[in-house]
Amino acid sequence: MRKKIVAGNWKMNKTLQEGLELAKELDAALAGKAINCDVVIGTPFIHLASVASAIDTTKIGVASQNCADKVSGAYTGEISASMVASTGAKYVILGHSERRAYYGETTAILKEKTELVLANGLTPIFCIGEVLEEREAGIQNQIVKNQIEESLFGLSAEDFGKIVLAYEPVWAIGTGKTATAAQAQEIHEYIRSVVAGKYGKEVADNCSILYGGSCNGANAKELFANPDVDGGLIGGAALTVAAFMPIIEAWG
Ligand code: PEP
Repeated sequence: MRKKIVAGNWKMNKTLQEGLELAKELDAALAGKAINCDVVIGTPFIHLASVASAIDTTKIGVASQNCADKVSGAYTGEISASMVASTGAKYVILGHSERRAYYGETTAILKEKTELVLANGLTPIFCIGEVLEEREAGIQNQIVKNQIEESLFGLSAEDFGKIVLAYEPVWAIGTGKTATAAQAQEIHEYIRSVVAGKYGKEVADNCSILYGGSCNGANAKELFANPDVDGGLIGGAALTVAAFMPIIEAWG
């Protein structure tokens, strides 16, 4: 049975103090509650250790939003996967469209990062998705297939089995424009078929594929009701407990 996951991506928001406050508030809101999904929060690097030690990480997994494509050494300003692992974080968000668009992250760089994340025992939440012009040209399937093939299909089936995918249509991120439940299901089903084509049905069936792009408490239930949508990667609505909890609770 694949995991249901609701993961927040705080992006470059919250000071350390504000982030700790939000994490503790979420921890308190979840305490004693029966939750039907895994919950993850993706914080800025400098928050990771403090947040991981302030909350129950068996209930809330902590994620970084990136890591270096090198093991260690003279790479000023970079943070390695092993450093992320040493904070108590368990996940790394990789290939977010903002990293691809603003920081030149190519499929080749993301291949390196994914391998380092896995080598350090962390779970990649690997983002894929097309921009608006690609959707309008009807080539979204080819785009996501290439992203998966070029960065992930060098992995063994065992390692691929550790990947969480997040389909995030770039035109839906932070725009208030959500993919319809039918659009999400259609491409998630396609993504699963691409995985099945390479690694077989069992690996594909066990792969969690999250939807991201203006997901919120009002639309999460409908999106998550799709058979191939296994949860959400949440930006704006992860920045307050009031907005994030209804998405977690959308799993019932
Ligand atoms: C994201 O950036 O991963 C995201 C899904 O953002 P938002 O929910 O704000 O669209």
